[in-house]
Amino acid sequence: MSLPAHILDAFRAVVGPGGWIDDPEALAPHVADWRGRIRGRTPLLLRPKGTEQVAQIVRLANTHRIPLVPQGGNTGLVFGGVPDESGREIVVSLGRMNRIRTLDAANSCLIAEAGVTLRAVQEAAAGADRLFPLSFGAEGTATVGGFVSTNAGGVHVLRYGTTRALVLGLEAVLPTGDIWHGLGALVKDNTGYDLRSLLVGAEGTLGIVTAAALKLFPPLRAHASAFVALPSPAAAVDLLARLRAASDDRVIAFELISRFALGLAVANIPDCRSPLAPEHPFYVLVELASTDATAPLGEILESGLAAAMEAGLVVDAAIAGSLAQAEDFWRLRHGLSEAQRPAGAALKHDISVPPAHIPELIARGNEAVAQLVPGIRPCIFGHVGDGNLHYDLIQPEEMERAAYLARGAEVTRALHDIVAALGGSISAEHGIGRMKVAELLRLKDPAALAAMRAIKDALDPRHILNPGRILPVPRPMDAAPR
Ligand SMILES: Cc1cc2nc3c(=O)[nH]c(=O)nc-3n(C[C@H](O)[C@H](O)[C@H](O)COP(=O)(O)OP(=O)(O)OC[C@H]3O[C@@H](n4cnc5c(N)ncnc54)[C@H](O)[C@@H]3O)c2cc1C
Repeated sequence: MSLPAHILDAFRAVVGPGGWIDDPEALAPHVADWRGRIRGRTPLLLRPKGTEQVAQIVRLANTHRIPLVPQGGNTGLVFGGVPDESGREIVVSLGRMNRIRTLDAANSCLIAEAGVTLRAVQEAAAGADRLFPLSFGAEGTATVGGFVSTNAGGVHVLRYGTTRALVLGLEAVLPTGDIWHGLGALVKDNTGYDLRSLLVGAEGTLGIVTAAALKLFPPLRAHASAFVALPSPAAAVDLLARLRAASDDRVIAFELISRFALGLAVANIPDCRSPLAPEHPFYVLVELASTDATAPLGEILESGLAAAMEAGLVVDAAIAGSLAQAEDFWRLRHGLSEAQRPAGAALKHDISVPPAHIPELIARGNEAVAQLVPGIRPCIFGHVGDGNLHYDLIQPEEMERAAYLARGAEVTRALHDIVAALGGSISAEHGIGRMKVAELLRLKDPAALAAMRAIKDALDPRHILNPGRILPVPRPMDAAPR
């Protein structure tokens, strides 16, 4: 059912000329996900220029019961920011709200609008001799609104926490159309329920984030990186603990890469070479960093790895001799998602367990999925310190793509059951979106689910904002627009 023309005109009037798109060709990149796995439909994409326009859009949507889908850089991996196939959802793209409003170095705080890219935030912070530590592969495109709303993690969680730990305050339009002015940027504020924490990671279901106050840190002035071969995932867990202790806790990244993942990177990323012989079961990319430019991180890393080698935890290691070599290590790591594409269909999982359970997760997971689909190829990489693995399962070489994908739900359930048994999470970083709703309902604690439903119903009684993401819509929302 398409939306009546007078309603669409009312939305267009809010944003004015140049503030909307309805041409199918121009809409195309906004209605498909980053990997091109799903394609939805929308009659209209709105590009508000300011918070007041966002509020007017939400009020109008409430009046007419029109579902809205907030969208940033559209790099999300669980279909949360892509309209569904109904043709009724209007997309609200925050791309034109792309100002850094203030940079307050004295208070270590930067206020950025929702459409500013993560890279622009990093660069603005660096320009003021500060660090914004969030970092991940899509940082050139992902936006403040998106990374706040997905509580993004990335490669520095070990030292700085997830996005939730980096947000001091928010400005957002709530589902009623009220503007919440929460940019106070206070480190301490115990005046009741914490709306900021609630909106971070809400995937656009409880409000449209229009700006965020982000926490800055002293810049890092010394770095040392190594690419290390390991006999097992258990060795990775032990090595991390040793290096943290030996370096005064200056490990900033510790990324596990399986042999199969490394092989795909070397085969499929242009000009990518393995720093070590590609015959070992696992590798880690480790980086130490310090705010003290004179910190002897290279020596600390070398002696720490030498001691670990004596203890049998490390088989081989390459310490980056230059910034360029360290960047090559990271290019390999950041290319691991893309490197899988030529290998065939992949069932992707973003799971976490308490870090010490990683070896058991890999052992049990590999066994369970191989029993279901002999020849399945686990491509494992991730953030050991956070207990978070990207556990991607690539189709057997001889199997038909469609036949493999038809087994997807069964394979995913088997893996998620092991995650649940180990006390883990079925979504460590990427969120639930529309992709993982059924698994959330199956595995989330029932009391937590009931509280989540109550929060959604209370704040968004008409289910205007991102309906069907995280939680299913509780009743038919297809009542004719008024
Ligand atoms: C190559 C690659 C690597 C990645 N690596 C990581 C990683 O290491 N760690 C990690 O955590 N994630 C990673 N991601 C996924 C990550 O979640 C997203 O890249 C990013 O956080 C989303 O930002 P975005 O602006 O693209 O948001 P979108 O994709 O546009 O939206 C994501 C969700 O947020 C909602 N949303 C967007 N803007 C707003 C807003 N202003 N207000 C309310 N809701 C909003 C959308 O409705 C949707 O539900 C990766 C993605 C890619 C493609």
